[in-house]
Formats: sequence, C-alpha cells, structure tokens
Amino acid sequence: MPQKLWRKPLDAEKIKLPKPEIHIISDLCKGCGFCIEFCPKRVLEKSDKLNKRGAFPPEVVDESECALCSFCTAICPEFAIFTIEKKDKEDNQDGEKE
Ligand code: SF4
Ligand code: SF4
Repeated sequence: MPQKLWRKPLDAEKIKLPKPEIHIISDLCKGCGFCIEFCPKRVLEKSDKLNKRGAFPPEVVDESECALCSFCTAICPEFAIFTIEKKDKEDNQDGEKE
C-alpha cells in the first residue's frame, strides 16, 4: 500500500494485541497437515518428530505471528491443537483484562 494512503489509528498506542499461546497434543495428531495448510498466518510446519501414532505432528515456527483465529482448532479432526491467549502478570494487576 502506498505510504500516503496508510493511516495509523488514533488509539494505536493504547491497544494491546493479545499474545497467543499454541498447544499441540502431539500424540493425538494423525499428521493430516490440515492445520499447517490452512493456517492463514503460516505459523505451523511439519516437524520431524514421530509421535505414538506414527505421524509427524506440526510444530510452531513463530508463535507471535498467530492471529488467535482458532481455525486450526476448528479444522483438526483429532482435537490435537488449540490456542489460548497468554496472560500477562501486568494485565491481571491493572484489571484491564481477566
Ligand atoms: S489460531 Fe489461526 S493463526 Fe494461530 S496457528 Fe491456529 S490457524 Fe494459525
Ligand atoms: S490438523 Fe490436527 S491431526 Fe491434522 S496435522 Fe494438524 S494437529 Fe495433526
């Protein structure tokens, strides 16, 4: 996008983006690769570690890039992946977030 068309929201400094935490239950994974293929942020890739099912589960490339969209959770046929919002100590103290 050309620089002159880009504008910054007035409250950009006040807004804190949620920090993602991705959990993969490796031994439930059957290695279908759906979560890797359909993650809109390309956060996951196939690992080279074999699990108990004889599959290669995904691993996280860059957790901070996760958009917390939960699409991987929705699409996983084995309920082997989910994401949560990472809580800061700071957030709990000032009461902005639970
Ligand atoms: S929550 Fe969304 S962005 Fe994050 S890993 Fe899952 S599909 Fe990718
Ligand atoms: S969608 Fe689920 S079963 Fe398929 S590779 Fe990802 S974690 Fe494994």
